[in-house]
Amino acid sequence: MTEQPKETKVRLRTEILQTAPYRQGKPAPANSFKLSSNENPFPPLPEVLEAIAAISINRYPDAAATKLSERLAERFGLSRDEVHVGSGSVSILAQLIQAAARPGEEVLYSWRSFEAYPGLVTVAGATSVQVPNTPEHRHDLEAMANAVTDKTRVAIVCTPNNPTGTIVTKSEFEGFMSAVPDDVLVILDEAYVEFVTDSNAVNGKELLGKYENLVILRTFSKAYGLAGLRVGYALGPSRILDAARVTAIPLSVTEAAQLGAMAALDHESKLLERVKVLTERRDATVAQVRALGLPVPQSQSNFFWLPSGEDSSQVNDRLLDHGIVGRLLAPGGIRISIGEAESVEPLLEACKQIASEFQSLTNLPIPN
Ligand SMILES: *Cc1c(COP(=O)(O)O)cnc(C)c1O
Repeated sequence: MTEQPKETKVRLRTEILQTAPYRQGKPAPANSFKLSSNENPFPPLPEVLEAIAAISINRYPDAAATKLSERLAERFGLSRDEVHVGSGSVSILAQLIQAAARPGEEVLYSWRSFEAYPGLVTVAGATSVQVPNTPEHRHDLEAMANAVTDKTRVAIVCTPNNPTGTIVTKSEFEGFMSAVPDDVLVILDEAYVEFVTDSNAVNGKELLGKYENLVILRTFSKAYGLAGLRVGYALGPSRILDAARVTAIPLSVTEAAQLGAMAALDHESKLLERVKVLTERRDATVAQVRALGLPVPQSQSNFFWLPSGEDSSQVNDRLLDHGIVGRLLAPGGIRISIGEAESVEPLLEACKQIASEFQSLTNLPIPN
């Protein structure tokens, strides 16, 4: 065997070398619950499995995801070019950022928010501008609007926010849209919109056609339980979505993904029943965790945020002791997905122990 040279002289972009590759939630050890990736705990519907078994994998997929795009266009009252399907909404985020922001230009978002945002901005060569969340772990949309400069090309609003579970209200969002110049692309990331039960929350569906600079992102990964198929979509002005189609890697949405998504829409009512089970489980779990005195914000998503500051890694160890694998997002806290019914009891046991052991946490105010 030849020895591998220890150092490569190949010149790589400094900012890429300085960025950590995407780290997935840990695989859960046996006898534990994987609550680290906001996945849907229900197994796929048999109808979805049947649909994806029928594909010819020796053929390339339909590059334009024609049937699924038409289906979504009809559902939202849009034309087909106002819909863009991607291999997960994260890939559409990457496409939009690349289409809009050059080196030296800025992409604005709240922080903490989705851990994929910083990396996507770096890869595009643009600069992240992170606006801190409010003490209640919500987007500070006024501060975000004030952070817009003549270099801002994209502003991302994530509601419900990953990882804090908090929402942006309709009036907050409308205020933001009127404050932001209309040459800035605003992306409303609604990966968890199906879990929202608060009627004050903004819903992108009601804003379609209202703003020339707004794109809405949704996904089949969470509520529809198709995370493994990789399929999401964008709704918005065709001129912006055409730009995303240019930066997209062709043929990355597989036929299985397209057919699986169509089957999920065909059997949507069954999936939405499951969503209801999960939102009820969320409300019950979050209420009990808050009753223990832990400073967990109300969640409108399929996860909740356990702020744990300096103690994050020890708190995470307590969860692991009880077989709960959450997502440690240091510094700051742990995001815990709402999972199987059987996960609730060990999760609450763990939280009880955390509340008694870490007074630094129970001394914090519980957000409204
Ligand atoms: C999960 C998630 C997505 C979507 O992921 P895909 O699987 O790529 O569709 C997008 N935004 C946020 C905030 C998420 O948490």
